[in-house]
Amino acid sequence: MATYGWIGLGHMGAPMTANLVKAGHTVRGYDPSAAACAEAECGGVEVVGSLAAVTAGAEAVFTSLPTGAHVLQVYEAPDGVWANAAPGTLLLDTSTSDIASSRRCHEDSATRGFRFVDSPVSGGIAGAAAGTLTFMLGGEPGAVADAERYIQPMAGRIIPAGGPTAGIAAKLCNNLMLFVSLLGVAEGSQLARELGVDPKVFYEIASVSSGASWPQKTWYPVPGVVDSAAANDNFEAGFRADLGLKDIGIALESADAAGLHTPAAHLAREQLRWLAEEGLGGKDCSLVVKYVTRDGTV
Ligand code: NAD
Repeated sequence: MATYGWIGLGHMGAPMTANLVKAGHTVRGYDPSAAACAEAECGGVEVVGSLAAVTAGAEAVFTSLPTGAHVLQVYEAPDGVWANAAPGTLLLDTSTSDIASSRRCHEDSATRGFRFVDSPVSGGIAGAAAGTLTFMLGGEPGAVADAERYIQPMAGRIIPAGGPTAGIAAKLCNNLMLFVSLLGVAEGSQLARELGVDPKVFYEIASVSSGASWPQKTWYPVPGVVDSAAANDNFEAGFRADLGLKDIGIALESADAAGLHTPAAHLAREQLRWLAEEGLGGKDCSLVVKYVTRDGTV
């Protein structure tokens, strides 16, 4: 059994750590939010009061934080990971970071004698709770191979994506596809309703037809259709719209720099930004459905 350090016990971090505890491991966790700590404690995490205490005795230190800037902050802090973890410790970042921050994590970790693996995840809070997340890993082959045994209790699939930053690159491209698909789901679900097709019946049809997609199956934005949807709970966040806006913004920076034409992704960013401007950035991404209805009701 291993001892893990875990920084960031939010919507994803809490259920992921609960699965490590269930598998018999010891997890020391840190988060400045009292609510997040309380949730993680229910899952068996030993909550500690400082970053330094997270790293003490940990073989692997995971982060699940909003952005790459947050990850660098907890690595660089005087009481943080680089100053306190034992040399050789495996550092794994499951956040949806950005490529420049992830590259700095790789390079500066190596300079300081640590092994870093970019380890973003897909599968949402349902996948985190079920221990079926897809992990996409970027790093040196030896570090990636070692990472797999620490990740296994949280994963459905673990896919080495390539060298340093290949995991986060794959994740950003995946999320570009996710948010573009989500707009289609928002529009199709509302049109079906307007045309008088029962939402549950249409969901069943789309799920086995060419309109099927992950956001259609998991986030269907009509209340009472699928258990995993935030629509059932007034769009309380499983995946915050402001985090979605961050993800698609990072993907678009790379696409624009590469000279690609990505009008669909630009439209998805526009709608997520609209939610943020409406003061709804803390709600679930699937609330983009509000953009579709004539009067904004959902
Ligand atoms: P969240 O906002 O629920 O959790 C982030 C946690 O980090 C919060 O509890 C916050 O208090 C904590 N935090 C912030 N600064 C910190 C610091 N300096 N030290 C320690 N903790 C700190 O977000 P989430 O939904 O759990 O997402 C986490 C990451 O995973 C994000 O990068 C997100 O893009 C990504 N992600 C989310 C989902 C999803 O469905 N929610 C799916 C895949 C990937």
